[in-house]
Amino acid sequence: MTDMSNTTYDSIIIGGGHNGLVCAAYLAKAGKRVLVLEARGEIGGAANTMTFCDGRKVSPCAHYLNQLNSTVRRDLNLTSHGLKMAGSDISTIALNPEGDHLFLNDQGASGAGISANDAANYGRFMKLMQQYSTMLGFLVDLPPIDIFNPDWDDKVAALKLGWNVRFGLGAEKMSEFLRMVGMNIYDVLDDEFDNPTLKGALAFDAVLGTHTGPRSPGSVLTFLYRMVAGTDGAVELPEGGMGAVTSAMAKAAAGFGATIKTGARVASVIVENCVATGVVLDNGATYSATHIISNADPKTTVMDIVGPRHFEADFVKRVDNIRMRGNAAKLHIALKSLPRFTNLSAEQLRSRLLIAPTHDDVERAFNHAKYGEASANPMMEISIPSIDDETLCDEGHVLSAIVQYAPYTLKGGWTEAAKDNFRDACIDRIARYAPDIRDHIEAAELVTPADLEQRYGMRGGNWHHGELTLDQMLMLRPAPEASRYALPLDGLYLCGAGAHPGGGVMGAAGKNAAKTILSEGRS
Ligand SMILES: Cc1cc2nc3c(=O)[nH]c(=O)nc-3n(C[C@H](O)[C@H](O)[C@H](O)COP(=O)(O)OP(=O)(O)OC[C@H]3O[C@@H](n4cnc5c(N)ncnc54)[C@H](O)[C@@H]3O)c2cc1C
Repeated sequence: MTDMSNTTYDSIIIGGGHNGLVCAAYLAKAGKRVLVLEARGEIGGAANTMTFCDGRKVSPCAHYLNQLNSTVRRDLNLTSHGLKMAGSDISTIALNPEGDHLFLNDQGASGAGISANDAANYGRFMKLMQQYSTMLGFLVDLPPIDIFNPDWDDKVAALKLGWNVRFGLGAEKMSEFLRMVGMNIYDVLDDEFDNPTLKGALAFDAVLGTHTGPRSPGSVLTFLYRMVAGTDGAVELPEGGMGAVTSAMAKAAAGFGATIKTGARVASVIVENCVATGVVLDNGATYSATHIISNADPKTTVMDIVGPRHFEADFVKRVDNIRMRGNAAKLHIALKSLPRFTNLSAEQLRSRLLIAPTHDDVERAFNHAKYGEASANPMMEISIPSIDDETLCDEGHVLSAIVQYAPYTLKGGWTEAAKDNFRDACIDRIARYAPDIRDHIEAAELVTPADLEQRYGMRGGNWHHGELTLDQMLMLRPAPEASRYALPLDGLYLCGAGAHPGGGVMGAAGKNAAKTILSEGRS
């Protein structure tokens, strides 16, 4: 590969996760000279595909696409760069220990144990949530409104928000929205439904990827977040695993002229006269640019890559205080053949399978994590993507599960024995619903938040590069001085999940960061 270290770029992006690639694509599309430097040997960060057992492939972190920003998908023309879906509109099955499973999709909720009242309420509730998400959706496509020093765009966005809430919803729904938004999902579900399996599934969706339980403040907001930042809850399965999404993004960025280097770990940022002007790789190579944009999480960026001495003490303290407690692990299982799930057909295993029997169970599972213990009865989102995607394995199947809760700071640490114990607890949990699963298992691997940190550089193994809670959202994300992608050091920006609007394979942070930089006109 040509050594480009003498070339001056307009923008250098530290990290080739999906947000870094999206940011690169937008900047390159606008005619900027862009260099992406990715530490790992491959692009994608937490959105990739890895080979697991005898050439079988799995998505090691993100497996379902339910938040990809529609503007990003369109602007980068990802389909023309090879992105295909192996499954679309994937429905959810909330597994019930007695076999009275619930089937949740666009049409509503059905299943042996659900009352007509709950089924009707589910349809009404999800419709209301979709209305709320439509009303708030535009916020994802903008830098957060600056309430401290609002400019004209901020005033327009604030007006639009007020208008949408008051007139888009109407008085009755507005008052319901204002009542509900500050509540926890546990109480809302108790107000709305009787069926425990339904309450368990919805509670799980509210806390997936977070360090919160259904009774935590703000859990209604995180429930809404998945819809606001996505496609109203529609779930897709990319063919070839999540790496296919980032491969298409990288092709789009390269097609617009961006240069992408892998195996290029940025050791530090060069700061001259209080301006970020370049980067130094761990092999000593240097590159300079007008904009240095970090796809690494905010804490790693400020404390490790740039260094706290380049920032005001208050800002450093705020960044140091960002909570980044990862609590989701990933379980991969190579299967000789499909196990039998009680009361489910092989066809139904195409669905997203949830193990979250009741909202109390989800909260109890979280209780362990609060005190540094792995859940005794973990909650899971299970996918068997190889049923729809033949590219993942020549024979057999792969099963992937996101497992909550597995705290990053486990008491005693994530030793091999601790990992084996938790992996076995997870398999036992699945066996409650698929009693013969052990006969089908060829290999199983558990990836803990500590592994995620080590493999992908996500501090704390945190899904969102910083917890997504009320005090770390919108204009407070990651800190008030840095909520609009520019860090308080000239020339330095964030473009990853740690910035607004947060984590998930969405691309919105990367897009918004690029648009902010382009609108500054600084070159
Ligand atoms: C277990 C788990 C399951 C998940 N499941 C889903 C899901 O099903 N659906 C979904 O939408 N989301 C899911 N997510 C969330 C999603 O994967 C992340 O929010 C998203 O991938 C973050 O993307 P990013 O580009 O902002 O950051 P990252 O993917 O973390 O990318 C950052 C990149 O920066 C690189 N980097 C860091 N430091 C340096 C350096 N010094 N020099 C050079 N490069 C550097 C890293 O190597 C990495 O490639 C899941 C997350 C986890 C942990």
